Amino acid sequence: MAKTAIITGSTSGIGLGIACSFAAKGYQLVFNGLEENGAAIAEEVAQEFGTQAFFSPANMLHPEQIQELVQQTASRFGQVDVLINNAGVQHVAPIEEFPESKWDLILGVNLSSAFHTSKAVWPGMKQRGFGRIINIASAHGLRASPYKSAYVAAKHGIVGLTKTLALEGAAHGITCNAICPGYVKTPLVEGQIADQAAAHGMSEEEVVDTIMLKKHAVKEFVSLELLGEMALFLASEKASTITGTAMPIEGGWTAQ
Ligand code: NAD
Repeated sequence: MAKTAIITGSTSGIGLGIACSFAAKGYQLVFNGLEENGAAIAEEVAQEFGTQAFFSPANMLHPEQIQELVQQTASRFGQVDVLINNAGVQHVAPIEEFPESKWDLILGVNLSSAFHTSKAVWPGMKQRGFGRIINIASAHGLRASPYKSAYVAAKHGIVGLTKTLALEGAAHGITCNAICPGYVKTPLVEGQIADQAAAHGMSEEEVVDTIMLKKHAVKEFVSLELLGEMALFLASEKASTITGTAMPIEGGWTAQ
């Protein structure tokens, strides 16, 4: 029987890339995100790879909408085998100018939502003795940068949640791991390149080389394909003893 994966924030960037990798391996998918064309994206990917998918517009800030997403998945596909907590937002500002509303938003989407989704899928995974929870953290779950107080706090927080769920899931066949990417060229990062180029009076190429990839020892963006492959491996049956990890995929950033 085909396995089912819920991927939050999968209508763009990393989530969409991972969804395509899972669709190519025959997973049934639940797409989620705020993009208005989410249903069309789900339909397109399902058709391209010949699998089943549906779209849920659940806002990750609202626990009752998360509950509904998990219930819809159970009634449509019968079970949740894999949960990928990927939805995320960013805001960059010095602490004294950092808006309270942005702090609450980032903690809500990037951290608290993973608590609510994991809690909602947990009883089913426990009952079946199988589950895979994969949190898309960041190199910022392992290292800090200035002006990213909320993002770094949320990403360090999700690494802590990952370790705790790994310990609680160990007796029930549930693993929980975090993937910690460096820079990946997605709409989230493309926006930052344009903003930084304007702010510093630099070309976009200069921003990429001198600001963005400065922290990568390997001067390349991380690819969506690599993240998809890693998530697929962590989701597989054979990865049963990999749990509680925070796996850096960041061109050597955190080796420094
Ligand atoms: P993106 O902006 O391309 O996609 C973010 C997705 O999250 C979108 O589908 C968006 O609709 C969804 N989303 C945002 N708020 C939501 C909400 N309230 N409810 C439901 N969905 C919501 O960003 P991305 O670069 O693909 O980032 C995906 C994840 O990867 C994030 O957690 C981000 O922190 C992490 N990450 C990204 C990079 C990078 O360089 N791009 C590096 C490390 C970690």
